[in-house]
Amino acid sequence: MQYYLSKATCFENGYDIFKLNIEKNTLSKLPEFYKYILNSWDDLNKNVRPEPTSIKEVSIQPIFNNNLIRHNGRKLDFKLFQSSGIKYVYDIIYYVKPGFIPFHSVNDIINDDSYTYDIDKILKYFQIIISSIPESWRVIIENQCFDNTCNTGYDVVFKINDVLVKSNELTSKFFYKVLLKNYVSEPTSYSYWKKNNINANWPFVWKSVFRNYKNHKSIDLDFKIAHNIVWTMEKLHKVNVVITNMCPVCKSEVEDIFHMFIECNCLSNLIALLKEIINDILKHKINDNDFKSVLLLGIQSTIKTSHVELCDVVLSAARQTIYKRRMIVLDKINYRLNIISLFKNQLKDNLYYLSKYFKNKNKFIDNFINPSLLIVYDYDENIILDF
Ligand SMILES: [Zn+2]
Repeated sequence: MQYYLSKATCFENGYDIFKLNIEKNTLSKLPEFYKYILNSWDDLNKNVRPEPTSIKEVSIQPIFNNNLIRHNGRKLDFKLFQSSGIKYVYDIIYYVKPGFIPFHSVNDIINDDSYTYDIDKILKYFQIIISSIPESWRVIIENQCFDNTCNTGYDVVFKINDVLVKSNELTSKFFYKVLLKNYVSEPTSYSYWKKNNINANWPFVWKSVFRNYKNHKSIDLDFKIAHNIVWTMEKLHKVNVVITNMCPVCKSEVEDIFHMFIECNCLSNLIALLKEIINDILKHKINDNDFKSVLLLGIQSTIKTSHVELCDVVLSAARQTIYKRRMIVLDKINYRLNIISLFKNQLKDNLYYLSKYFKNKNKFIDNFINPSLLIVYDYDENIILDF
């Protein structure tokens, strides 16, 4: 990053960039990845960076391209000063007494023996710099003395709700949280499910989608369902990819996400079986509308975790089965499959995967076997589905 920044700006030190607001034309010279980083930093800066309050903090401020130093609303950018090494407030103040250095000192720095610049121009720029420095900083500069005991090392400090956050506390998690708060927008699926009377407790839904022991295919499908981005025939038809929006399995109704996973006539046996299994695990009956939500988005309650985890495994296996069957039918139009057998195989596969995933056998049995009377684990470690 330093390489690109030194090409695009006059600042070579990596830290300097965190004190600046980068101009759009500077950003355009950087690779996309760095643009994202710097744009995010810029946004963080605007929101939470506090004003400097001591001579040390004022002195390390860059003079140019600094959002806090403006002339007629515009940030300063005098290449003549920058190329002569005048970059920070530190470069235009006295070291041993308060105040700015006089103009002739600035002129001496810029006009060395090799080339002579227009002295009126330098004076004009210097006056602009002095007048653009915020009033509160000028008071500090004119009253506080910068001496060698001032540490010029830069410490990034943020201010959130009047609490100062020091550089050693600025972790990735910290920035992630700040950016999340400022920029996260609600997924469009939230309003879709709400409109269709599907109540979702989203933190629980995402927890269920991303359970670390789930296989990646399962996570992928559950994620797409939660975001309502599964390519149903209705959606494909809307974008002119297919000629019909009808369900490829029953061929009698439009295939939206509800039809695909719940309402298709060809799913009735499986759905009835699923209700039986889920009721058996939870030991209470779920009403039909809640079951829709459970089948699509998982169990969303705080009841005993192990029971919820097994329900999620069963439901993920069911979604995978339904989707897989539908894809097979789409490929081989008249192919006949027993969806219950397909589901049993899928569930067994998922459970065997978990039995290998959990090194602690007892934990596996407690979480994924014991909560249901319909799932049995025999002495030879075979999983038997009693339905
Ligand atoms: Zn159908």
